[in-house]
Amino acid sequence: MKMEVCTWGTGGPFGRELGVAPKRRRRGHTSTSIILSDEDSGEAEVVGGHKAAAHFMIDAGAPSVETMVEKGVSAPDVLFLTHPHFDHISDLDRLANSRMRGLMVKSAIRDFDEAKRLFCPLPVIGTEDCLNHPRDGVLARFGYLEGLVRWTPISDYDLWHSVRRSDCTIAASTATAGAEDTFPLEFKALPVRHSKHAPGSCLFIFRFRSEEGPGEREATRNVVVSGDFKSMDEEVMKNPDLLDPACIVLDANNIRAKGSYHASLEEEMALIDRWCSGDEEVLVLLNHLSGFGDFLEGHYDHVPDDEDWEAAGAKFATRSMVKARVAEDGGCYRIK
Ligand SMILES: [Zn+2]
Ligand SMILES: [Zn+2]
Repeated sequence: MKMEVCTWGTGGPFGRELGVAPKRRRRGHTSTSIILSDEDSGEAEVVGGHKAAAHFMIDAGAPSVETMVEKGVSAPDVLFLTHPHFDHISDLDRLANSRMRGLMVKSAIRDFDEAKRLFCPLPVIGTEDCLNHPRDGVLARFGYLEGLVRWTPISDYDLWHSVRRSDCTIAASTATAGAEDTFPLEFKALPVRHSKHAPGSCLFIFRFRSEEGPGEREATRNVVVSGDFKSMDEEVMKNPDLLDPACIVLDANNIRAKGSYHASLEEEMALIDRWCSGDEEVLVLLNHLSGFGDFLEGHYDHVPDDEDWEAAGAKFATRSMVKARVAEDGGCYRIK
């Protein structure tokens, strides 16, 4: 099974502002996908409308739908939200509508109510507070999407969950062990500290299990999507499922600034050192590139541009097996 991590949008909330000549390429709001597909069918399976074995999308910043349309990617099966900030949900209504309309066009169904009966609403998975906080939660802004989406709060951190294909509901992986109708990716959430206006912020770990051949031992590939964070509890940082993942999509909001809501890239290096033993190859995708804090704190006389991020990324890896790359909008990265 081929696994790819695709970054549809790699910008944070800021970086190119009104009234200022842009110094860097356009970066959309944050959005990432993990796509599993058959090994043999090559690039065309993802680019060209192929139905992937699993398409899990994490955050839905704009213009992720437009980028996915351009790439010919099939609609996501599940959406995960790390927290309710606008740069992570700004394309949510477009995504929910576009997915359902795409299914209708493909199946030549012209009646909207019939479509709602036939197709699973998009499961939107987040923590209880991320979805339901009365003032700052996602439903406070997007509650009208009910029917196109199914709000799916998770109440347990640090518990592996599976998603059933048939009705897109979730259950603890221990309860679905051996079940054939679950997607081949499991997930768990761990809490992170971010901002008081982002209740229920979390990171997600995804796990793909594969058996390399008859009688061979089971192999797992983990992908960590950090979401935005300033810090984490020691209990979270030492979670064994964070050790040596195949890929970490990292909130690299600032290069040097130690603002109130995000760790600096320099602070995150210590975390990567902790999680990466040096024995396994780890791809770190630097994502959510804002840099506005670097400007505010005077580390740069401008908001960091593409060259500044490339230079920061080049110094990032301190262990030989860690490969750090500045993620690009529309970039798809093969995960070994
Ligand atoms: Zn953000
Ligand atoms: Zn945020």
